[in-house]
Parts: sequence; C-alpha cells; structure tokens
Amino acid sequence: MRVAVLGGGLQGCTTALALADRGVEVVLFDRNEALLSRTAIANEGKIHLGYMYAADPTLATAKTMMAGALAFAPFFERHLGIAVDAHATSMPAAYVVHRDSQHDVDEASAYLATVHGLIREAAEGRRDDYFGLDITPLRRWSCSERDASFDADAAVAVFETPEVAINPVALAGAVRERIAGHPLIEVRLGATIRSACMDGDRATVEWDGLDGPSREGFDHAVNALWDGRLALDEKLGLRPSRPWIHRLKYGVSFTLPDGVERPQSATFISGPFGEVVSYPDRLTYLTWYPSCLRGYSSDLVPPNWQTHPDEPLHGEIVRDTFAALSEIVPSLGTIDPETLPDARVKGGVIVAWGKTDIYDPESELHQRYQIGVMSSGRYHSIDPGKLTMAPYFAEACASRICGEF
Ligand SMILES: Cc1cc2nc3c(=O)[nH]c(=O)nc-3n(C[C@H](O)[C@H](O)[C@H](O)COP(=O)(O)OP(=O)(O)OC[C@H]3O[C@@H](n4cnc5c(N)ncnc54)[C@H](O)[C@@H]3O)c2cc1C
Repeated sequence: MRVAVLGGGLQGCTTALALADRGVEVVLFDRNEALLSRTAIANEGKIHLGYMYAADPTLATAKTMMAGALAFAPFFERHLGIAVDAHATSMPAAYVVHRDSQHDVDEASAYLATVHGLIREAAEGRRDDYFGLDITPLRRWSCSERDASFDADAAVAVFETPEVAINPVALAGAVRERIAGHPLIEVRLGATIRSACMDGDRATVEWDGLDGPSREGFDHAVNALWDGRLALDEKLGLRPSRPWIHRLKYGVSFTLPDGVERPQSATFISGPFGEVVSYPDRLTYLTWYPSCLRGYSSDLVPPNWQTHPDEPLHGEIVRDTFAALSEIVPSLGTIDPETLPDARVKGGVIVAWGKTDIYDPESELHQRYQIGVMSSGRYHSIDPGKLTMAPYFAEACASRICGEF
C-alpha cells in the first residue's frame, strides 16, 4: 500500500511514522524546504492535560487532551527510541487564577480538582506515560509561596499541577532525523498541494513542485495541512457546516540571563492571558494574548501572515509581552528585554471552531474536542487541534487506513 501524507508538520510526520511502522509506503509532501518548519515549531510545546479548558464544563475537551497527552511520549519512544523520561521537560506549570478571570477561584479550583481526578484515573496503570513524571496531587499554594513568585493583586490563587512542556524545536530535530533515514518514507519538499480527488479506488493528488505541476494516484491520501486543511477539504466538497477562525499568535523566547532566577512556569487562567514556560537549559518562553494575538480571519485560507516579524513589530511584541507579564511575575521585570541577545518572536496560525474570540466566555473556541480524523472513502483529513494530539491522531489514522478497526 502507498499513501500520500500531505503536510510535514507534527501531524503529517507522526502519521507518516505510524503508517510506515505498519509496513505502508509513504510519500510525505510539504511546500517548504524542510519538514517541521511551521506551526509545529512556533509553539511553547505544552503537553496539555486539560486544566486550561474550564469553559468547557462537559469536560470533553479535558478528556481529549488527557488522551493525547498520555499517548505523546510513548509514541516517540516507539518510533524514535526516545525513552519517555528522556525529554527535557519544562518546570511543571502552576495554574494561576488571574484577578480578571472568567471563572472565580472557587469555580477554577473545583474544575482543576475534577480534571486532576480524571487524569489520575486515566493514568492508572500507565504511570510512566506522561514523561515518566508522577501525577502528584493538585495543591494550592500558601499565600507566602504565591507572594514569592507572583504579584498578590494579580494572582488571586495558585495551584501546582504536573503539566509540562517539551521543547518543540528539539523534538522536531529528532523527528526529521528519523524520517530522513526511514526506508519506507519518501519526502517531497517544495511541493505545494493544489488539490486531491477520488478517482475510483485511488486518491489522486495534484501539486506544484520544483519541476512544475504533477499528479499521482495513491491508495489513500491524508490531509495534515493544518491552516491549509479546510481549503483542500473543500476541493472534495467537504466544507464544514460550522464557523471557524484562523488566528495568528506569536510567542517570545529567549535565554534567561545569568544571575536571574528561573521564573515559575505558569499558565494564567481563565481568559485572554498568557503563559511562562521555563526549560531546564534556561530557555524561556512567554506569551501574553493581547500583545501576541495579531491576526484574525474566518476566510477558508488565512492570509499569508508573517511568522517571523521584522521591526518594529518584533520589538513591540517583545516589549509589550514583558511589560504585561512583569506585572504578574515581578522577577521578569528585572530583565531589560532590549538587552537580550537572543530574543526571538515566532508566530503560527491557530485553527479552531468558533465565531468569536476567547474574550467571549461562550465562544466555541473554548471547546476543543471536536477534532481528529475525518474520513471520506480513501481520503482522510486530520484536525489535530493541538500539538498535544498529533501522535494520538496519527495512530488513529494509520489504524483506520490499515483496517485495524
Ligand atoms: C503561538 C502558538 C502556541 C501554541 N501552543 C501550543 C501548546 O503549547 N501546546 C499544544 O498542544 N499546541 C499548541 N499550539 C498549537 C499547535 O502548534 C498546532 O496545533 C500544531 O502544531 C498543528 O499541527 P502541525 O504541527 O501539523 O502544523 P504545521 O506545522 O503548520 O504543519 C502543516 C504543514 O503543512 C504545510 N502546508 C500547508 N499548506 C500546504 C500546501 N498547500 N501544500 C503543501 N504543504 C502545505 C506547511 O508548510 C506545514 O509544514 C500553539 C500554536 C501557536 C501558533
């Protein structure tokens, strides 16, 4: 069997690996000059356990994320030989209830406790699967602990969670290397997918490559194009019947200067706030939604947004993000962002169902569980929703193609 996997982000690469592991020949297409050059490396690498989705009281989003999170490290152990506990994980995140949170402390605390109970249940009997880490009890910090790391006016309550991030750039390097040496995976770069269609029992793919336009038939085709996914689906008449939003979001990363203590990794809830992620090698990642969200589109194809902004936007995002987060994390205020030698701003598109932004507590954006593999005959379209989910859906798609269920 020969399968075309369209899109070489984390979803496409993991799907290629899952198929090849089952003996399937894969042709992996991407329009860029390297695999894993887009959204897959423009994020903070948080492997979500579901704590962030208090606005989905059905808990469906949290349960989906847990399933993905527990499948993440085992996937890379199986396919890349990276032991589950060998990833350089970030400091676990504290969940910090912001004074302007859409959910008050009691609501947030009840939600976090419920999610935590579900994680412990889900991890029962597979305790190493979340990066070999213990799912330690959820604990509310004392006031003095909070005051040592956060501004007491902004941080109303702080809860310690086991949730970590992995460095997506480091992971991308390992995935690229594995794919390059895989005898069953052929990579075609510089290939922009134009269309796909079903030709009898063949899935035919058309693309513009370095040598001009080409077409080829495959036994199956998998659409893993992320922000290009809806446009390709439409070519097969698969237009979603619900609204979607493409958002351009940036993040700031830098190496923490010598002498500055590592800030606590933190996620500020609930609403348009942000995150601090602190990695062991002092790589630090910051986002603040109002400063980092710079594009919003409900078009089928999002604009060709700039993922690496030039000045003055670069400097503006760095300054505004530091200024906003320093009000909650005072230690960040000791850093002058203008003097950081390696401050980087990188952005990517976030694709989600919904009509209104996260400022609206009722927005469908808060519900992230209607994602995954949609199949129409031999054409399969994967919406990962989050980086967290890519390995989980890769295995699901490969099992479906190979008729395992
Ligand atoms: C700022 C930011 C922070 C985020 N933080 C997190 C987080 O902490 N945790 C988490 O779980 N998720 C996070 N996400 C979401 C996560 O990054 C994405 O859900 C995930 O990376 C998308 O899947 P992908 O890696 O396959 O996408 P991509 O890497 O974008 O892969 C799609 C590929 O398709 C290619 N492509 C597109 N169109 C075409 C075409 N027509 N022809 C050929 N090739 C094409 C692109 O070149 C690209 O390589 C974040 C996203 C952003 C933007």
